[in-house]
Amino acid sequence: MNHDYHVHSNYSDGRFLRQMLGAAERAGLDAVGVADHCNVSTRSEPARYKRAFGFNLDITYERRREALRDLATDFDLNVYDAVEMDYHPTDHDAVASFLADAEFDYAIGSVHELDGVNVHFEDYFAKQSAAARREHVTTYFDRLVELIESDLFAVAAHVDLVERNSALRDIATDADYRRVAEAFADSRTVPELNAGRVLSEYGEVHPTPQFVDVLVDHDVSSVFGTDSHEPDEIGPRKEELEQFVATHGVMTTALSL
Ligand SMILES: [Zn+2]
Ligand SMILES: [Zn+2]
Repeated sequence: MNHDYHVHSNYSDGRFLRQMLGAAERAGLDAVGVADHCNVSTRSEPARYKRAFGFNLDITYERRREALRDLATDFDLNVYDAVEMDYHPTDHDAVASFLADAEFDYAIGSVHELDGVNVHFEDYFAKQSAAARREHVTTYFDRLVELIESDLFAVAAHVDLVERNSALRDIATDADYRRVAEAFADSRTVPELNAGRVLSEYGEVHPTPQFVDVLVDHDVSSVFGTDSHEPDEIGPRKEELEQFVATHGVMTTALSL
């Protein structure tokens, strides 16, 4: 694995750019993409969340771009100026016009929110009936298919994010995976092998081996993303992804940038 397309920096919820680039170089990567969180929704909940967390990349991306150009000269590494954007169909036009103006090297699209709350929120979903939780999982994959079909993103992040939440885990079926894989097969968007929780409580790569099998059946290749927020996460997560690929026969690719 020579490319990590998904790390964060202090331009959203990660550590200083210089530390992240230094760790990427030490991990033996040829290229790293800094994909900070960005949300341009005018819906009230995402706007409130963005203000509360101080996710300002929609305002600061030009400053970060200058910093990346400047810092890249200090490291033996290709550095990509990327973004991780929340996608909801309601925000399609706002996301499209922002991406057209900002001209990042590439964009990652994510579904982080269901029912107006973050997918990680265990208590919210744990209180609900089995039928309601099944409905949320269906909605998650509906949103993901819409993200893929929007044609706005080079990469779709952590494509089974619902697995991270124990209340939404082990509900998805091959039928869910098949409709996602069919959307990828018809799109320029590729899925990401994501290591964001591989060394913490979830302990698995996204997507699950079962989902990987369906992607492979549809000739869909994936890119690597450690989703690191701390410098020390990059190297160990890179090793986990390499191990996963060796074990599960994932088809991998690189973005043409
Ligand atoms: Zn994400
Ligand atoms: Zn991320």
